[in-house]
Amino acid sequence: MAHQETDCLFCRIVRGEIPAKVVYRNDHVLAFRDISPVAPQHVLIIPLRHIASLSDLSPEDEGIAGQMLLAAGTVAGILGIRKSGYRVVFNSGPDAMQSVFHIHGHLIGGKQMGWPPFPA
Ligand code: AMP
Repeated sequence: MAHQETDCLFCRIVRGEIPAKVVYRNDHVLAFRDISPVAPQHVLIIPLRHIASLSDLSPEDEGIAGQMLLAAGTVAGILGIRKSGYRVVFNSGPDAMQSVFHIHGHLIGGKQMGWPPFPA
């Protein structure tokens, strides 16, 4: 098993200790539905291995970073929104309101979204 943290919520989901609605899994990543969706489709894509945030990625993590992005297209296909479009958001740190410190990409879609995502 890849490096895990005992008390990390998402490591616990990887280990099956906490239930999740899994959409996709391979040898590197897990994708499951967000418990509090902000869009008709909202899936979190995480590495099986514990990495706290985008800012904690190191050059040796190049492979897993790529795996997360590759999984986004795969998951979008599973959700049926690959052609209609989707957004992938990595919140990192306090200003971005990161609340779970196991890196995750929010894949959201299923509706037309605005840009920029906040008022000017
Ligand atoms: P962030 O604020 O970017 O760290 O996002 C953390 C996300 O994890 C939030 O969108 C939460 O709704 C989601 N979340 C928290 N606990 C769970 C859980 N047990 N299962 C699925 N999603 C969760």
